[in-house]
Amino acid sequence: MNEKILIEKAASLGFSAAALIDTKQIIFRPEFRICCEDNSCGMYGVNYACPPACGTTDEMKERVLARKHAFFLQSIWEIPDLEDKALLKKDKKKHNAMIRDFIKEIPEENRNGFMIAASGCSICPECSIVKNEPCRFPDLKASCVSAYCIYVQQLADSLNWDYDLGPGLVAYFGMYVFD
Ligand code: SF4
Repeated sequence: MNEKILIEKAASLGFSAAALIDTKQIIFRPEFRICCEDNSCGMYGVNYACPPACGTTDEMKERVLARKHAFFLQSIWEIPDLEDKALLKKDKKKHNAMIRDFIKEIPEENRNGFMIAASGCSICPECSIVKNEPCRFPDLKASCVSAYCIYVQQLADSLNWDYDLGPGLVAYFGMYVFD
């Protein structure tokens, strides 16, 4: 796997920053789970990729630490009004689609991991958990950085990436975790 080429590919897909990291660099803060429980995104309990269905904070952490590496990805979006939920959701969906496009560029022998997204899984218009049916695409299901309780700001700071971008700009993050 050529790290440099993949980072260039991430840039060409529209990511503002990308880095290959060791999963040991990731700090987990289980107390962040309260952010999911507050349900400001409306996904708590109605998405297989979100709490409580996704797993406990320990289970999520172990899932990541069972793998050695991760590509950490950031994209930046112009969102003049942070109350514009429709635009936030639309851009998160585009960001997640960019991660899926990036994963396609990873050589097949390294494509053995899983994606971490921004926000809950939005592959289906309505998650099948709502009808108490099994996940339609378990191999594509992706939980968000918050559901994993990943301390994204710390990781971004450690890489000298911008986290707070000022008025009108929002950064989204994601990962591909693999061996
Ligand atoms: S793939 Fe569909 S059913 Fe499975 S978690 Fe995602 S939205 Fe829900």
